[in-house]
Amino acid sequence: MSNVLIVGAGGVGQVVAHKCAQLPQVFSDITLASRTEEKCRRIAAQIERPIRTAQVDADNVPQMIALIERVKPKVVINVALPYQDLHIMDACLATGVDYLDTANYEPLDEAKFEYKWQWAYQERFKQKGIMALLGSGFDPGVTNVYTAHLHKHEFDEIEWLDIVDANAGSHGQPFATNFNPEINIREITQRGRYWEDGAWKETDPLSVSRMFDYPGVGERKSYLLYHEELESLAQNIKGLRRIRFWMTFGESYLKHLEVLQNVGMTRIDEVEFEGKKIVPIKFLRALLPDPASLAAGYTGKTSIGCLCEGVKDGVRRRYFIYNVCDHAETYREVRAQAVSYTTGVPAVTGAAMMVTGAWKRAGVFNMEQLDPDPFLADLARRGLPWHVEER
Ligand code: NDP
Repeated sequence: MSNVLIVGAGGVGQVVAHKCAQLPQVFSDITLASRTEEKCRRIAAQIERPIRTAQVDADNVPQMIALIERVKPKVVINVALPYQDLHIMDACLATGVDYLDTANYEPLDEAKFEYKWQWAYQERFKQKGIMALLGSGFDPGVTNVYTAHLHKHEFDEIEWLDIVDANAGSHGQPFATNFNPEINIREITQRGRYWEDGAWKETDPLSVSRMFDYPGVGERKSYLLYHEELESLAQNIKGLRRIRFWMTFGESYLKHLEVLQNVGMTRIDEVEFEGKKIVPIKFLRALLPDPASLAAGYTGKTSIGCLCEGVKDGVRRRYFIYNVCDHAETYREVRAQAVSYTTGVPAVTGAAMMVTGAWKRAGVFNMEQLDPDPFLADLARRGLPWHVEER
């Protein structure tokens, strides 16, 4: 029995609140806090179990500490934005409480995500006897655990790994992103990067593509992107020779993005506008649909998995492990679209692993460093079944 504090009342925060509420035996008391408390209240009103709400600016460490001291959670689930990661980790360190997030830290003024800032907390978390679980969403998150599962059960060594992510859903909007628009656009417009034979190789943004046949979705053009799980998997899965990440985008989405980039709307630096300083991408975020608002009427599926090739007992093998998730079904269950759902369910599953002791350790961990079996069993029970095919 334990209290949980959820920070961030967006699309993912909504799923996390619903899913924690479905587990009264694990999370005895739930508090949902965010910058705008009204959004927390709206989510709480959807759920039968009582959910406490609070206002917090998670970038303000003393405010976060005061909130944690009041709520006394066993774990803080950070589903605000990557900019808040270090501030919430500082507050967890000060109060001796476990921490979990779904996206790694990224500085506001540079579109560059890396684990080095969060890995630097390793010794301090260890000494305090508390745990930080990094990247417990779908990708990163489940993709790391899928890799660990295949590594444990099907391979002596994985040599090639391609993570493939398709959203073949339709929300009816001319242009919208499925999670926070600012974070999403910063990620996609970065240079591509993959790891091969011990070195990082760079590509121009969205310049490399290939077709991939996704279960439940069919053939889709997929673009090579840099994604944060590549960094930890390249380090933790010994013997890996190449790891790449691929994501599908429709032609119309890419055309909108190109125009927005060309006119400067995706810039992350300040520009002068009528005597005020504004950051174009933040202004764009205010104009674009809120990811949570896409959920009603969203049709189609997401299909995400890991294609691994390697060796077992001297024989070459190739396996594909994946999940398919339906936007309309997740809406019926928790009033959220599948991208929020596939992120929120692993976050709650990871938190439950920590709270119940199944994954409890001291220090800072990526998902592939922990035993994949109890996590995957729980994940399937909670709405994200997984399948393995030999290819
Ligand atoms: P949203 O933009 O819908 O929600 C973010 C929420 O965080 C908003 O409610 C926002 O408040 C709140 N917030 C922002 N800044 C602060 C702050 N300083 N203090 C307190 N609250 C704050 O995003 P999503 O729900 O779509 O995404 C949430 C997280 O999940 C992101 O970090 C994203 O990168 C990650 N993600 C991870 C995935 C994975 O598979 N690993 C996939 C998809 C998303 P306000 O409403 O007031 O702006």
